[in-house]
Amino acid sequence: MNGDRPGHALVLGAGMAGVLAAHVLARHVDTVTLVDRDVLPDTAEHRRGVPQGRHAHLLWSNGARIIEALLPGTTDRLLAAGARRIGFPEDLVTLTTQGWQHRFPATQFAVLCSRPLLDLVIRRQALGHGRITVRQSTEVLELTGAGGRVTGALVSTDGGAPTRLAADLVVDATGRASRLRPWLEGLGLPAPEEDVVDAGIGYSTRLFAAPPGATAGFPAVNVASDHEVGRPGRFGVVYPLEGGRWIATLSVTRGAELPTREEDFLGFAERLRHPIVADLLRTAEPLTPVFVSRSTGNRRRYPERLPEWPEGLLVLGDSLTGFNPVYGHGMSAAARCAAALDEQLGRDEPVGTHRIQAAISAVVDDPWILAATTDVGYVDCRTRATDPRLLGMDIQQRLGFARAIGSRSIRSPEICEVVTDVMSLNRPQSELGSNRFLSLTRTAELHPELTGPPLRPEELAIVDLDPRSLRSGPDVPLVRG
Ligand SMILES: Cc1cc2nc3c(=O)[nH]c(=O)nc-3n(C[C@H](O)[C@H](O)[C@H](O)COP(=O)(O)OP(=O)(O)OC[C@H]3O[C@@H](n4cnc5c(N)ncnc54)[C@H](O)[C@@H]3O)c2cc1C
Repeated sequence: MNGDRPGHALVLGAGMAGVLAAHVLARHVDTVTLVDRDVLPDTAEHRRGVPQGRHAHLLWSNGARIIEALLPGTTDRLLAAGARRIGFPEDLVTLTTQGWQHRFPATQFAVLCSRPLLDLVIRRQALGHGRITVRQSTEVLELTGAGGRVTGALVSTDGGAPTRLAADLVVDATGRASRLRPWLEGLGLPAPEEDVVDAGIGYSTRLFAAPPGATAGFPAVNVASDHEVGRPGRFGVVYPLEGGRWIATLSVTRGAELPTREEDFLGFAERLRHPIVADLLRTAEPLTPVFVSRSTGNRRRYPERLPEWPEGLLVLGDSLTGFNPVYGHGMSAAARCAAALDEQLGRDEPVGTHRIQAAISAVVDDPWILAATTDVGYVDCRTRATDPRLLGMDIQQRLGFARAIGSRSIRSPEICEVVTDVMSLNRPQSELGSNRFLSLTRTAELHPELTGPPLRPEELAIVDLDPRSLRSGPDVPLVRG
């Protein structure tokens, strides 16, 4: 692609990033081929190529809005299939690192459901276009190309003999395990620089039958880590799922032991900074064994920095930047990549792949710096970074600033609104350094600190929990704001 519009685009990987990219490409090119080594299920079931699909997922409003704009009707289809739209911060009971968050009226939202349901609904919406051909059970072996240009890929279907798929544009969306580096090296091309900020996150998840009414009438629950006291992080969430289920995900940073056995699950939840997760799970019935995932550090590639980035190749989604999943940014980042691709291909003046890649890389910067900055603060986080914002004094200042904002955000609706906009990727993170926001942090009135989970009596009744058994005590204001 030298500024000409591509006739045939080949998308490698049919995860969230690949599916959205294929949909967008179908608006601009003659034909699109989407390949994946898995068989893509016709029902909302787990598949091997998306191991993270076993764990709690939250689609932030920024990603949900982009997907809705690309694929109108997606949100309604998800809700009709049992997904829940959670208002933030109102419908989340969360113990942040700085304390309990007041349940101020919602200013943003997230969609909660199982990952297989999300993938199924979005895939059905996205891949219906007649220009898209899906090749399943097809493994990408290497890229093909010559003269600094990528011209296709070598693939094998059902383990058969390798065949060549030619394309004017190849999009790598093969996720965290992308073999982009060896593929480029195989073509005699340099690989992009890479930053890694790896807090050693581990995830452990189990599904439960929730008490009747709980998935619709009880808030999502989150207990964040206590890493600021110099110990490894330990977290827990309970989210509602379709089918009257709860998904409970427990997670750790490097140095803390992840509960991998059924008999350890509840005990770990009990020892979080507050036992609310364990209290809830005791009211529910386990439906599955414990599923475990590791290697979920932040990793960013910088293809846009290479002056000789090959024509005909783009990289997006987790293959471009993978995030610590605790922040729930990966799918929204994939959606942002697709929207950036759409915008670039829709320009009156056709542009080369280096420029398109630069535009795609720019939209992952906010989620990258939000996640990487926080994770650098964890005990024994392994950092190998070229990003100057993650080095030296700068990072200490950023961490101190984040702590100061966090402690006010949980107590001020005005500050919380801006922070929630930034965390949900609806406002640029640079907003947090604006004069307007800095002045707000000095002048905003703070609500009293909460000393326990702000649960309403009617919510406690749903799960049959006695308010006195919660550490808040009955004399603590339950909900303010
Ligand atoms: C534990 C965990 C929890 C997460 N929670 C959230 C969350 O709450 N919210 C959120 O927004 N994000 C979350 N994420 C991130 C999110 O899952 C991803 O960012 C998002 O799905 C985009 O992924 P992707 O499509 O780029 O890659 P993937 O989902 O990894 O998809 C890659 C695809 O490529 C295929 N593939 C790979 N190699 C080959 C090959 N050689 N040949 C053919 N096919 C191949 C795979 O089969 C797969 O289908 C979480 C991630 C993890 C690990």
